[in-house]
Amino acid sequence: MDDAARRLAEARAWRDRDLAVLWHPCTQMKEHPDTLPLVPIRRGRGAWLEGVDGRRYLDAVSSWWTNLFGHGEPRIAAAIAAQAGELEHVIFAGFSHEPGLKLAEALLAAAPRQPDRPPLARVFYADNGSAAIEVALKMSFHAHRNAGDTRRSRFIALTNGYHGETIGALSLADIPLYRRVYAPLLLEPLFAPSPDAYEAEPGESAEACAHRRADELAAIFAAHPGEISALVVEPLVQCAGGMRMHHPAYLRRARELCDAHGVHLIADEIAVGFGRTGTLFACEQAGIAPDFLCLSKGLTGGFLPMSAVLTTAAVYEAFLDDSRERAFLHSHSYTGNPLGCAAALASLGIFAEDDVLAGNARRAARMAELAAPLRDHPNVAEVRQTGMILAIELVADRPTRAPFAASRRAGLRAYRHAIERGVVLRPLGDILYWMPPYCVGEEELQHLADVTTTAIAAACAD
Ligand SMILES: *Cc1c(COP(=O)(O)O)cnc(C)c1O
Repeated sequence: MDDAARRLAEARAWRDRDLAVLWHPCTQMKEHPDTLPLVPIRRGRGAWLEGVDGRRYLDAVSSWWTNLFGHGEPRIAAAIAAQAGELEHVIFAGFSHEPGLKLAEALLAAAPRQPDRPPLARVFYADNGSAAIEVALKMSFHAHRNAGDTRRSRFIALTNGYHGETIGALSLADIPLYRRVYAPLLLEPLFAPSPDAYEAEPGESAEACAHRRADELAAIFAAHPGEISALVVEPLVQCAGGMRMHHPAYLRRARELCDAHGVHLIADEIAVGFGRTGTLFACEQAGIAPDFLCLSKGLTGGFLPMSAVLTTAAVYEAFLDDSRERAFLHSHSYTGNPLGCAAALASLGIFAEDDVLAGNARRAARMAELAAPLRDHPNVAEVRQTGMILAIELVADRPTRAPFAASRRAGLRAYRHAIERGVVLRPLGDILYWMPPYCVGEEELQHLADVTTTAIAAACAD
């Protein structure tokens, strides 16, 4: 057997063993391996994944939006290795360590600020994005309660939003595919209409749409005086909801409404944080600071599961008391894991060292140029972009924006076409998107655009 044949045989054997014992996330397992290929990966370098079968795959989705600077980024790998040699983990209740402390200081220094508003001043760690949302919800509710306000037990979330999969976080989601089955188990938030500019009325600007939706949000606040604990938003881009984008004016109005009604603003920057939208945090583009900032995914540069919830001194102080009941007793075993903190510190260091945001501005401009020809495609309703996130909305009929029949599985067709050509696109329904690692270069972007173009043709062909 030659080398290539041996690799293919190895990949096939691996696939069989995998499908005998594993259960993969967000997957109808019955579709493996016939409808959906399963791709065993041996290593990752830069923007590329290397398959056990010897083939290379461009990771255009940053491995579910986690990876920032490319796979195997040596500075992060070295920081984790060094930390593992010193202290791999220690209980974080009653104990502290250098990476945990330094990371908190660094995150607070980098957090979005708003003039005339006290800055975010406290960091609470957890171990994934959903857990960060649970922390923020519980803290918000409990802070009001500790302040003697026991009626504030409801949350406002946006339609088409997504905040994770645990029961509390899923409660805030408005994506039927994820939510519907579990609906009997979930909290019932108030849903405010998303300011999504794709849903703007004919001739309405994104900004006008944002203001119209903010007026509707104001009506919800007015109808529920004293009942609402917090408003939860994904600033600028609703990622899981199809990379739908809105004008920052909405966030400014939301901030004002929260202040006027004594409601907390929870910014879920789990996906959009760490440079995806062009600024380090999306809130910066609206000039606002939230009461809670939830971070995960890119926090460790994509190396380790970790999350952080940043909040204000006012929230923190509401918990200080002689009673344990007034304390925030929430914990996760791996809270403040030193390896995760070391990775996150190294990742923040790279932003400064490599002037990453400036490089991304150039990359984002190039992405826009490369995607421009797709705007005229008869099955493309919209090409939209915020920073390093670019989305292409496929439809059956461009003038009416009528979607393809679900049975066509246009997104899946595009996925299969791309993976066969060495590109990982993982469409959200029929919405293709590019969210590449920040090391992506000219040739890689060109390749991505070429394969996306032919993938769209394959998805839309009869
Ligand atoms: C991914 C995501 C989450 C959940 O994070 P997990 O680590 O997957 O639990 C929450 N909010 C947003 C906006 C996300 O994109």
